Amino acid sequence: MADKLTFSQEISNLMYEGHGSPLKNCIQCGTCSGTCPAVEFMDQTPRRLIGMINADLKDDVLNANTSWVCASCYHCTVRCPAKIDIAGAMYATKRYSMWNKTYSDDLVGPVFSETFMKTIVRSGRSYEPILAPTYIFGFGAKEFYQEVLGATKMMLKGRIPVLPPRIKRIKNFRNMIRHIIPMGDEE
Ligand code: SF4
Ligand code: SF4
Repeated sequence: MADKLTFSQEISNLMYEGHGSPLKNCIQCGTCSGTCPAVEFMDQTPRRLIGMINADLKDDVLNANTSWVCASCYHCTVRCPAKIDIAGAMYATKRYSMWNKTYSDDLVGPVFSETFMKTIVRSGRSYEPILAPTYIFGFGAKEFYQEVLGATKMMLKGRIPVLPPRIKRIKNFRNMIRHIIPMGDEE
């Protein structure tokens, strides 16, 4: 019987890229953390997260908000002296959390991502009025009002459609993405 994959192997397997070095090549230099514009909002720095993945500290990695706070700017990936795709590892960690339902309930990111994916699978297009409820209620009253006002103005000017758009040949589209992501009930 094949050996069970370790957590670090599972995360590595979820990194779809053909480029970049293995996560095990990390030398813990801290360049990724030093260059990250979002590090102050993270529970664990990118350097620590990569170290924790390599140490198979699965629960600690999944309990950290780090990958959900990552802005996907790729600064870390570009600057890593070991040529590790750290941003790709952040995506892989998010995929693992989503597919295994291991994310913390107080995070906005997983709900937003799930709603986004469902919207895309159903219609082939993103639609902001469906996405907005996943994060807008976390705003203060003033920001909430400004968001609603801005969205209403854009809708009146035709920048946001009143009804959700839907692409032609949606079944073909779904058949295509079925090969990439688990579709669950969305088929
Ligand atoms: S920049 Fe690369 S080698 Fe340095 S700590 Fe980050 S992942 Fe590891
Ligand atoms: S890709 Fe994410 S982790 Fe890397 S520097 Fe940008 S925000 Fe930080």
